[in-house]
Amino acid sequence: MSAVAVIGAGPAGLIAAETLAQAGREVVIFDQMAQPARKFLVAGRGGLNLTHSQPLERFLAHYGAAAEALRPAIEAFPPEALIAWCEGLGQAVFTGSSGRVFPRAMKASPLLRAWLARLEGLGVTLRRRHRWTGWDDAGALRFATPEGEVSFVADATVLALGGASWPRLGSDGGWASLLADVAPFQPSNMGFHVAWSPHFRERFQGLPLKRVALTFAGETRRGEAMVTRDGIEGGAVYALSGALRDAISRDGSALLQVDLRPDLNQAALAARFSGRGMSLSNQLRKQAGLSPVAAGLVQEARHAGDTTALPALIKALPLRLTGVQGLERAISSAGGLRFTALDAHCMLRARSGVFVAGEMLDWEAPTGGYLLQACFSTGVAAARGVLLSIA
Ligand SMILES: Cc1cc2nc3c(=O)[nH]c(=O)nc-3n(C[C@H](O)[C@H](O)[C@H](O)COP(=O)(O)OP(=O)(O)OC[C@H]3O[C@@H](n4cnc5c(N)ncnc54)[C@H](O)[C@@H]3O)c2cc1C
Repeated sequence: MSAVAVIGAGPAGLIAAETLAQAGREVVIFDQMAQPARKFLVAGRGGLNLTHSQPLERFLAHYGAAAEALRPAIEAFPPEALIAWCEGLGQAVFTGSSGRVFPRAMKASPLLRAWLARLEGLGVTLRRRHRWTGWDDAGALRFATPEGEVSFVADATVLALGGASWPRLGSDGGWASLLADVAPFQPSNMGFHVAWSPHFRERFQGLPLKRVALTFAGETRRGEAMVTRDGIEGGAVYALSGALRDAISRDGSALLQVDLRPDLNQAALAARFSGRGMSLSNQLRKQAGLSPVAAGLVQEARHAGDTTALPALIKALPLRLTGVQGLERAISSAGGLRFTALDAHCMLRARSGVFVAGEMLDWEAPTGGYLLQACFSTGVAAARGVLLSIA
């Protein structure tokens, strides 16, 4: 009996390797990077939002068109299973007020350390700097390494190569040319370009717009948005990013509405303005209670010729988004291997014995723990598919 090859040492690949090794299979993991799980570690910088505590049907709805394709994997390895797994590695979790679930340590490194130690204990080996380049004529896996080409004959293979965002962390989407049925990659959970005035950019880039509500195409999301050098990013923006991206690709730009005081209605806001004798800047800060960056946004609109009365402008400030930030800085990517290329056990229809998991599949979801949960669930599903196929 030869080993099962898992290609990609991100969360999807590592959990597949663990599931296979727990079942007694010999497992070899390959990754093109020198270190495993680079993106998982970066996700930890934001606290590592592992999953979400809401009921499963509401949870699944966040995967939009891919919800039904992901349902079997997520039902078989649901958020509670992921939480139990994390706690089993000695990392207690907590649920935030929004329902999002995080490890108490608020980072990925202790969890990853414990995880890699567990894998080592199970006899799993990790071959670093092995870039998968396809199959040879006899069906063996081929890898490019610093020492040259090597091949590996596997009993079965799990591909967990990731999407195409933050390519410098390893998931560069280069695998797309090796497989058929791949939907083009697009950034997901990303920022957008805004043509800030030089004054606004210099003064406010890097500052957060806290507790705002953003509305686009009838959907409103509360949260935070960050002013960047060339636009805007952050949780509330990411939550609307799919619809905004599609609108920009269709129409060339999109108009986002920003409510800078979502906790006050327009009449209550209007009652705060006495108007007389105060500069616009003081009115915005002292009477409307806006932060300097929020007040700066209103002034930016005024300078651009917007004459809407202040209370209405503060409640629905129009922000023209002129472009989409690229894959280099997107949290995740849309596109990838289409589910129609897989059978019910995550196996490639076109190549028996090859299973696929994680973000390399064609689904997208907002931030909130939905990304990692789907990676873990499909990683487990692919490993169970392998176990069924070589039982
Ligand atoms: C800044 C940031 C913050 C994030 N925060 C969160 C969060 O809080 N919660 C959440 O749910 N998600 C978060 N995510 C998303 C989450 O990290 C990813 O969805 C997840 O890591 C994808 O897992 P994966 O195993 O499918 O792929 P990846 O983690 O991308 O791993 C794929 C692996 O495959 C390897 N590989 C690729 N091609 C080859 C090849 N040809 N040969 C060999 N190896 C190859 C790569 O080197 C990589 O190690 C965040 C992402 C970013 C960038």
